[in-house]
Amino acid sequence: MQQREILYEGKTKQLFQTEDPELILIHYMDTATAFNNIKLATIENKGILNNKISSLVFEYLAQKGIRTHYVKMVGDRDQLCRRVRIIPLEVIVRNVIAGSMAHRLGLEEGTKPSNVIFDICYKNDDLGDPLINDHHAVALGLVSYDELNRIYAMASEINHVLIELFDRVNITLVDFKVEFGYTPDGEIVLADEISPDTSRLWDKGTNERLDRDRFRRDMGRIREAYGEILARLERVIEKQ
Ligand code: 5GP
Repeated sequence: MQQREILYEGKTKQLFQTEDPELILIHYMDTATAFNNIKLATIENKGILNNKISSLVFEYLAQKGIRTHYVKMVGDRDQLCRRVRIIPLEVIVRNVIAGSMAHRLGLEEGTKPSNVIFDICYKNDDLGDPLINDHHAVALGLVSYDELNRIYAMASEINHVLIELFDRVNITLVDFKVEFGYTPDGEIVLADEISPDTSRLWDKGTNERLDRDRFRRDMGRIREAYGEILARLERVIEKQ
């Protein structure tokens, strides 16, 4: 499939038109960002690792009946995906307290809450993706209450599938961020990516962080950590 005009350039990915108006090409770059672009770097081959990890995860989710935008991987850094209208919400699912939630509420990282926690943030770079609630999302015209319920149900289902998947490779799924979009026929599907850039993944034996916190917190060995996630997933997910 020939690469066409660029549709969008994000912090770590570029989106290109294809000859099919219903399909886009997502190109994974090696850029790493944190703290809303204040910290920037290039991590060689991170784009390749995230493309492969996210492709495997989306293929696995599809096998488990989750509807997604993903079609297939078409190169080391490229995925073919259905074109969707992204809902400007970041949905964060937390199984273990970490990151901004620990910071905001004065909780210790690693604490296991009694229930799964769902946060929503308004996807808006100028505002720094602020945390909002359901009523804000509806008042801002981002979604209806009914759509929010469907989104939470999908996020919960994805969480169940991924907890079980990562458990099999000895990793705790601490938290992750997902985004959703509408297909042209109005269906809500999982979009964007799921990778160590968008989640917190801790080794169950050592609690070693195998995710973007290694970059945020200058812990080093980022590529090795992402490579470890890919290697473990490749052991348990059958390629399509
Ligand atoms: P926190 O709220 O602790 O910053 O993030 C919670 C989880 O969502 C983490 O796994 C984090 O990587 C992910 N996350 C939150 N916001 C973003 C974002 O804007 N971009 C990406 N890639 N991940 C995010």
